[in-house]
Amino acid sequence: MSVVPLPAVRLGNRFARELAELAIPWQAEETPDPRLLVLNEPLASELGLDPAALRTPDGVRLLVGELAPRGAGPVAQAYAGHQFGSYSPRLGDGRALLLGELQDPSGRLRDLHLKGSGRTPFARGGDGLAAVGPMLREYVVSEAMHALGIPTTRSLAVVATGRPVRRETVLPGAVLARVASSHLRVGSFEYAAATGDADLLRRLADHAVQRHYPAAAEAGQPYLALFEAVVSAQAALVAKWMLVGFVHGVMNTDNMTISGETIDYGPCAFLDAFDLATVFSSIDVGGRYAYGNQPLVAEWNLARLAEALLPLLHPDQDRAVELAVGSLGRFREEYAAAWSAGMRAKLGLPTGVSAAVATPLVDDLLGLLRAERVDYTTCFRHLGAAARGDAGPARDLFRDRPAYERWATRWAALGPDAQAMDRVNPVYIPRNHVVEAALTAATDGDLGALAGLLDAVTAPFTERPGLEGYAAAAPEGFGAYRTFCGT
Ligand code: AMP
Ligand code: MG
Repeated sequence: MSVVPLPAVRLGNRFARELAELAIPWQAEETPDPRLLVLNEPLASELGLDPAALRTPDGVRLLVGELAPRGAGPVAQAYAGHQFGSYSPRLGDGRALLLGELQDPSGRLRDLHLKGSGRTPFARGGDGLAAVGPMLREYVVSEAMHALGIPTTRSLAVVATGRPVRRETVLPGAVLARVASSHLRVGSFEYAAATGDADLLRRLADHAVQRHYPAAAEAGQPYLALFEAVVSAQAALVAKWMLVGFVHGVMNTDNMTISGETIDYGPCAFLDAFDLATVFSSIDVGGRYAYGNQPLVAEWNLARLAEALLPLLHPDQDRAVELAVGSLGRFREEYAAAWSAGMRAKLGLPTGVSAAVATPLVDDLLGLLRAERVDYTTCFRHLGAAARGDAGPARDLFRDRPAYERWATRWAALGPDAQAMDRVNPVYIPRNHVVEAALTAATDGDLGALAGLLDAVTAPFTERPGLEGYAAAAPEGFGAYRTFCGT
């Protein structure tokens, strides 16, 4: 490994230093023929990195972990996790590495992380690799989420490795360079708690407080305050997912962050028709992570975090449980408040409208959407047009016109604000059929469709002529969409 002549790049290794028990020093595998497929120039600039330098051969080698930035000591992170409800005591980064922490120009610490960089000691049966399609999928969906105003890890680049990856077929390999405010997960706490090392658990909690919730350090009970901050962040996050129609698909506790950022885009997808039972993942046969279950699952995952934190909450376990249960109780209230506020915004309701009016109005609309399997995203955007006086497009989505008209009359009487609606109801989301077509083309070497899709979904609220194809619901023949976890 040599030092890269990218003068701005210097990484810290705070995680590896403070939590050595959770960090195995490791190197990325050699990349036979690295080729940059996509670089997030705005994000690079935000991080203080020179996009032009990242496009040079050395820059690309940095993005696959072959050239170490100054200060970098890559590590595979250890974590445990409840996967589909069953506990796995040792998961960890099987095919990922934390390169280190970058201090951006505003002073924020951001993890620079690679996915698909080769087997690590946590790889178990896995090959440590990732394919072009799934890494581009994470890139597109995470950047769309960011543009939608939803907290998420970010994608800096995808580099094709030139190494074939064996899945159901042989696919081209890739490495994703990812940025996050940290990679601390609920599963990190489960792992630390299971070691029985109280000092490690405390150091992990202190690290989380300092990086994400510094105000908790000043609280009477800092670790309870940490837990409550995570509860709040996740309640707000999952409400945003629900409001935009996002289905994460694999909400295992190792895929839930402490920061409240969305992480690990595997079999995720956006709703077409509004249906609480929607499942896209081929491995989620029981529907545990169905669209409508996400708030309950988040709460369940937070209960696992609470269990891990118990030794820090109170020396008396019964008292610790009482405290944790009290704080976990906030999740439902905060989730409900965030979701209701978001729905009011989606309908453009003026602040004076009471809950007694707004709640049944929202419920009745969702009932209509569900009954007729109306496209969720299209409907809310067309309602914005209706608020502006163009009633046709929204009305035409419904077969039972009189039922819709009765609802629309009640709503219009409240004076919805069309402009406010257009700021929260996207025109463009990464629609499954469009994503699929772009990834298939990219896997075959044609990046044009991907560029078009990224252009649409990274400015999701601004309707532009010529981009109608990105706004339209899936064609009839597209069928029930399935995403595969063999990523
Ligand atoms: P996920 O549910 O995709 O977040 O991954 C669950 C666990 O499996 C994590 O510990 C991953 O690091 C590991 N894993 C997933 N795919 C691979 C792979 N191809 N090689 C090694 N480990 C993997
Ligand atoms: Mg994961």
